[in-house]
Amino acid sequence: MSFYDSLGVVPIINASETYTNLGGSLMDPITLEAMREAAGAFVDMNRLMDAVCERAALLTRNDAAFVTTGAAGGLMLSTAACMCGENEALLDQLPDTSALTRTNVLIYDGPFRQMIPYWRLPRMVGAQVVPVQPSIAAMKAAIDNHTAAVLLFPGTPYERDVPSCEKTIAALKNSGVPIIVDAAAQLPPATNLSYYTRALGADLAVFSGGKHIRGPQSTGLIVGRPDLIRACRLAASPNPRIGRALKTGKEDLAGFITALETFVNTDEAKRYNRQVAILDRIASILDKRAPLVSVEKVAKGRLGTEQPLLHVTLPDYLTGEACNVYTRGTHLPPVDVGVYPPEFGMPRNLIFVNAYNLRESEAEDVAEAIIDFLG
Ligand SMILES: *Cc1c(COP(=O)(O)O)cnc(C)c1O
Repeated sequence: MSFYDSLGVVPIINASETYTNLGGSLMDPITLEAMREAAGAFVDMNRLMDAVCERAALLTRNDAAFVTTGAAGGLMLSTAACMCGENEALLDQLPDTSALTRTNVLIYDGPFRQMIPYWRLPRMVGAQVVPVQPSIAAMKAAIDNHTAAVLLFPGTPYERDVPSCEKTIAALKNSGVPIIVDAAAQLPPATNLSYYTRALGADLAVFSGGKHIRGPQSTGLIVGRPDLIRACRLAASPNPRIGRALKTGKEDLAGFITALETFVNTDEAKRYNRQVAILDRIASILDKRAPLVSVEKVAKGRLGTEQPLLHVTLPDYLTGEACNVYTRGTHLPPVDVGVYPPEFGMPRNLIFVNAYNLRESEAEDVAEAIIDFLG
């Protein structure tokens, strides 16, 4: 009996995204092996963190890096670092910020706030989040001596109706205010790991370890300015400060760094083509057996990243949401097909299929589930 069977939990085929609600991604066997090995010995955790963070900086071509618990942990530590710097007495007091003057985190007041609730995370370390009119001029004018950082969310749908990351960073670079980029899901390409910091000039960028990097689901990465990265580390476990609750174990660190190495060394054209081949297989089955749907290949992912997608338009009396309820809730094996949330402004009868988390052998299951739904 498999582990999931023993708990009565049914595995789901992930044809949608690296959603945390589904378990993020699947780790490579070599990542799991590194975790198993790391679990077999005690080490000096500070020494292990030094080594892992140094290698993460090297692999991502950044000046410095820190490995933490998810992009969410990364946003909390980044905020703490921007408020307190390396002042340990101030870090000791978080989330009490009464001794600080710079406690505001500025964000654009755009429609993305309904799509991704992660802009609330800086509050968890005591910062105030201040929405600013979505223009460069308003952002510049909003910066004052209470501003700890500006927080940006790249990605095509998130940047709709707000100035882009590129324009904002270029305009604010010399303002003296640290810029944090939440790039949790902005992968691939792997070059994005240094794009926001090195190419654009952001002070910190944050990535999920458990999404496209395919590390442990509980991991995340902060990259950028060495002094701010040192401050993140001071705020984090094993220190008894706000980030003690964001503890990474030796197994997490081993798994993350192994997954990161695999991710940056993967031939991106090969990975892309592997996904295309799976989507082609699904498309050809649907073309043959589901004349009611129209299938279209899309070159870029939901957030504008380098990922092919399949857009499947259902008959207009059906909704993508109903399709997902059926394929995931009734069909066996359960399949999570992609549904655009209403804020994306896509047709209600559209579903998407992303093969990032699909095995070749699952292509038919995905097509069958959609065909079954159509009846
Ligand atoms: C997923 C995501 C997060 C949270 O990342 P975790 O690694 O799950 O903590 C934060 N911001 C954005 C934009 C995300 O997509």
